[in-house]
Amino acid sequence: MFAPSKKKIGMLGGGQLGRMMIQEGLPLGLEIHTLDPDPNAPCASCAKSFTIGSLSDFNSVYAFGKTMDVLTIEIEHVNTKALHKLSENGVEVYPQPQILETIQDKGQQKIFFRLNKIPTSPFVLTENKSDIKNHLPLLPFFQKLRKGGYDGKGVKLIRSEKDIDDAFNLPSVLEQFVEIQSEISVITARNKSGEIKTFPAVECQFNAEANLVEFLFSPARINESIISKATKLAIEITEKLNIVGLLAVEMFVTKKGEVLVNELAPRPHNSGHHTLKGNVTSQFEQHLRAILSLPLGDTSISFPSVMINLLGEKNNFGESRYVGLEEALKMKGVHLQLYGKNTVKPFRKMGHITVTGNTLEEAMEKASLLKNKVFCMGSETRNTF
Ligand code: ADP
Repeated sequence: MFAPSKKKIGMLGGGQLGRMMIQEGLPLGLEIHTLDPDPNAPCASCAKSFTIGSLSDFNSVYAFGKTMDVLTIEIEHVNTKALHKLSENGVEVYPQPQILETIQDKGQQKIFFRLNKIPTSPFVLTENKSDIKNHLPLLPFFQKLRKGGYDGKGVKLIRSEKDIDDAFNLPSVLEQFVEIQSEISVITARNKSGEIKTFPAVECQFNAEANLVEFLFSPARINESIISKATKLAIEITEKLNIVGLLAVEMFVTKKGEVLVNELAPRPHNSGHHTLKGNVTSQFEQHLRAILSLPLGDTSISFPSVMINLLGEKNNFGESRYVGLEEALKMKGVHLQLYGKNTVKPFRKMGHITVTGNTLEEAMEKASLLKNKVFCMGSETRNTF
């Protein structure tokens, strides 16, 4: 009997990932309750109920979760002690709290890779800034804060001993600089009965200044043997973690042709946004299917696609407005997804555009036209330097 809507579903976090999860749950007859500290969060206008509260506070997460049958996340920085207790008390919590704990800490993630012989770049763990000087042979390296970083925040490239003066003075991973050929991502999903499906690999192109994904290409323009290696690795990690839900596995393809795992996200991910229009099942629907013990959906590509993140323009603040969107919407195969954020900040993720085509080349051509036409501006500009 199909009655998933009988389960009360709670989601920690009310950002854009949650908003797209709510949107994709509707055709399945699902309604999602949300907890987020920001009354203007993207989910505030579309969640079944919206509770304002901290995600890091035990009491607010516990009080919200105990009224739910199934609890999930759209951001990993949440109070896991509350999740353990909720799980002991019979709430189904996916991803499982111990997996979240591993992933919340970049140091624990690297240790997990090492213990499970998952290829990843060489690293050491440090406690503070003065500790960094003991690892000069690793130079050049990236310093990554063990906890709390996201979207390139909490990541610093240390090229030489001199750069250590500007390093973070917090527990970190020092990770050897890798000569990257391309960055790819494979998203997997696993349900409670152990069924696993993977989405076709995508290629991520970053905005160097913001350290954020600027373009996604689906399918990835990478040779088959590398794609197959990456997909096998993603499945191996999914099985080792025994995760229920979605797992995004971000990887580097090095100039030498190795595949190294960079990091994991146990939830829908920016590298899967194109699936809303480019694949038979979207990553958001797949996550919901996985956590509700439903059969996983077909992940095949329906159309080659390019995803463009719509980021707030540099130096722009205040009320958001978009330049060039009307013209963009006239183009065939252009799909707009705005996140419902009323105010803009430099490089803030405001929405995305998926461009589909009969071939990837056709989609890329339209996307490069759009890239120079569509901008997200604010009501004020302020020089931030
Ligand atoms: P975040 O979790 O904040 O997204 P990442 O660890 O993914 O941070 O790093 C952000 C970006 O920095 C990566 O996508 C990649 O472009 C670059 N980067 C990270 N680690 C390395 C590395 N070891 N060698 C070369 N580039 C790296």
